[in-house]
Amino acid sequence: MNYKTFMETHGYTFKSNLGEGTYGKVLSAYSNQMKRKVAVKIIDKAKAISNYLENFLPWEIKLIRSLKHPNIVKTHDIFGLQTSKVYVVMELCVKGNLLKNINDHGVLLEPAGCRLFTQLCKAIQYLHNSNVAHRDLKCENLLLDKHHNLKVCDFGFSKRLTYRDGQLVLSKTCCGTWSYAAPEILRGVPYNPKVSDVWSTGVVLYMMLYASMPYDTTNVRRLVKIQMQHNINLPDKPSVSPEAKDLIRSILHPDVEQRFTISNILSCSWMLWKGKMEDKDEIPTSNAGSGQEGPPDEKSKDEEEPTKYSSDPGEGPSTAPPRH
Ligand code: ADP
Ligand code: MG
Repeated sequence: MNYKTFMETHGYTFKSNLGEGTYGKVLSAYSNQMKRKVAVKIIDKAKAISNYLENFLPWEIKLIRSLKHPNIVKTHDIFGLQTSKVYVVMELCVKGNLLKNINDHGVLLEPAGCRLFTQLCKAIQYLHNSNVAHRDLKCENLLLDKHHNLKVCDFGFSKRLTYRDGQLVLSKTCCGTWSYAAPEILRGVPYNPKVSDVWSTGVVLYMMLYASMPYDTTNVRRLVKIQMQHNINLPDKPSVSPEAKDLIRSILHPDVEQRFTISNILSCSWMLWKGKMEDKDEIPTSNAGSGQEGPPDEKSKDEEEPTKYSSDPGEGPSTAPPRH
């Protein structure tokens, strides 16, 4: 039985393709029961490696069923668990992912950027308070619904945080996408995944305001060197306020002790100030003055692609196909 027929038997009518996932397709479908369109992510077990199937997938399924936050993609249904493909039915985010939005419309103006960034931080705060680290925060994993509300998706690299003698057990797995990865991850030192998630949000904020990546990521050693020098290129064009630049610098701090926490971010002057100016109805974007053609294509990087997963027991598979 093909996937469209199988979905029909579960009450979902195929509508269109939304994108290719690492282990299969993401598509839109109509739910006969909910009487509305949904997104369906199909995870093809034949495309996944055994460690993902044995360790990551069961955890991911348990986790996404339990998450409840306005800025995290809601999972409605999961079926096909005993078959060769798992179907994850989610709320449909009609505006697609943030990377596509930035590529199509250019930089976000600061009030709109602040609004989305606040939503991202609130989702991360909820996850961290629930003892979960996402570990793959990037624009492709941030979706926008019809009201331009941000929804975090893709918990394929996430980790349940554990404590020993009251201390958070540090992660050793090098995972995620290296252009969003904190220097401690790229250097291979044990890291606090909450603190490293915060770094990735800094790269996302930079992307929102500059429509480009903060660092040249063609060479990982050079990337780490620049990250460690706290040397962030913050051009005057497009016009970005000094407060926003300060925030980016405070988040992309190489010293984990000095790096801003989510609470620091949510209470900083730029967030409070620009948050008041937010336009609730629209997300104004502007190509004017960005001076950038858009973010570099992740897939064009061909040297020194780091391991996406390590063999760290209990943390994830030892290899994985490249993330898109
Ligand atoms: P992968 O684990 O393969 O990266 P994702 O869950 O990140 O898969 O989904 C891949 C892409 O599919 C996303 O970047 C987005 O463009 C699209 N997508 C995923 N979920 C949804 C959804 N709920 N609504 C709309 N588009 C989605
Ligand atoms: Mg993804």
